[in-house]
Amino acid sequence: MGEKNRQFLELLKKPGNDKCVDCSSKSVEYASYNMGVFLCPTCAGLHRGLGVHLSKVKHLKLDHWEDSQIRRLEEVGNINANRKYEERVPACYRRPGEGDSSVLRDQWIRAKYEREEFIYPEKQVYRRGFMEGYLMKRGKDGDQCKSRRFVLQESEDSLKYFIKERKEPKTVVRISTLNVYFAPEKIGIPTSLQFTFPHGSTTRHIYVYHESAETIVQWYMALRCAKLNRLMVAYPSASEYILAENVMHDFLKEGWLTKSGPKQSDGYRKRWFSLDRRRLMYHESKLEPVPKGEIFLGHRSEGFFLRLGSPSGFKEVGFSFTLTTPDRQYLLSSEKDEDRSQWMRWIDYVIDREITFEDSILWDKIRRRN
Ligand SMILES: [Zn+2]
Repeated sequence: MGEKNRQFLELLKKPGNDKCVDCSSKSVEYASYNMGVFLCPTCAGLHRGLGVHLSKVKHLKLDHWEDSQIRRLEEVGNINANRKYEERVPACYRRPGEGDSSVLRDQWIRAKYEREEFIYPEKQVYRRGFMEGYLMKRGKDGDQCKSRRFVLQESEDSLKYFIKERKEPKTVVRISTLNVYFAPEKIGIPTSLQFTFPHGSTTRHIYVYHESAETIVQWYMALRCAKLNRLMVAYPSASEYILAENVMHDFLKEGWLTKSGPKQSDGYRKRWFSLDRRRLMYHESKLEPVPKGEIFLGHRSEGFFLRLGSPSGFKEVGFSFTLTTPDRQYLLSSEKDEDRSQWMRWIDYVIDREITFEDSILWDKIRRRN
């Protein structure tokens, strides 16, 4: 082993340097020698995107290192760098981890080093409680997207959107009931968002995008910040960071399943399923504005459980499994064995979790609807 490799191994043992400085991944293979930080392969790629005037990246083993460059890593290191660049990350900001979408990860790195938003908090425009701008919104019945003006007003707990310059908003959403979700693969555009919220007696989804990654992430963070502030008013004794963990949530799993009707004679239908914590929604198509149906997933002790295969008398289609609720049985099936295992794992995870107060309100709503 060369002397330089030994030096790197020593440096990597130091606290903080064993994880990527930006996403905490354990696979540290690169470093930025002007910033003096250690990086995972994905974040190293995003640092390259910043340009060499900001970050100069090298592979720890495959590239040649000058002594002065190694000294810089010794002097700075991940903990010191983050003391500076992450000093003022607001609680509402979603710090992306290894599994997060590339838009979130790229914007985190740009916010951190290019715009220095966490050194200068006045640059955090998403914390102002107000945002206004145009987003492309997918139409209710088709692929066509139209530019719509959206207005976020935290003091009113509202997100509104307007058609043309009309005075009255087309829809008003209460931010405190809104969930916002990055679903780039589903929508087919990396810089897109899904808004999900209760609407009348059902649930609505709105799909939007903006060509600028910075803008779409600003909307996402602004909605998180506004919702968190509303939650802090509702739960004044709760910790801001604990509330922030629950402020918005990604769906646990989505995908196509076939679903049987309640009777043996009923046919099978292909549906797009979304597992949103205790709510299992199914839709006629991937980007439907309203789910066709919703199934509340209660606790195992209340009579909710899963079984591999179909109930006797039902035809086996693909890789099937049966979800039993106190009201009825749902025969579902995946095209692939691996996909079925994932669905079963996530549904089991949900029905093993304790029911919260919010869950029982949701259960009540869904029951009244069905
Ligand atoms: Zn990383």
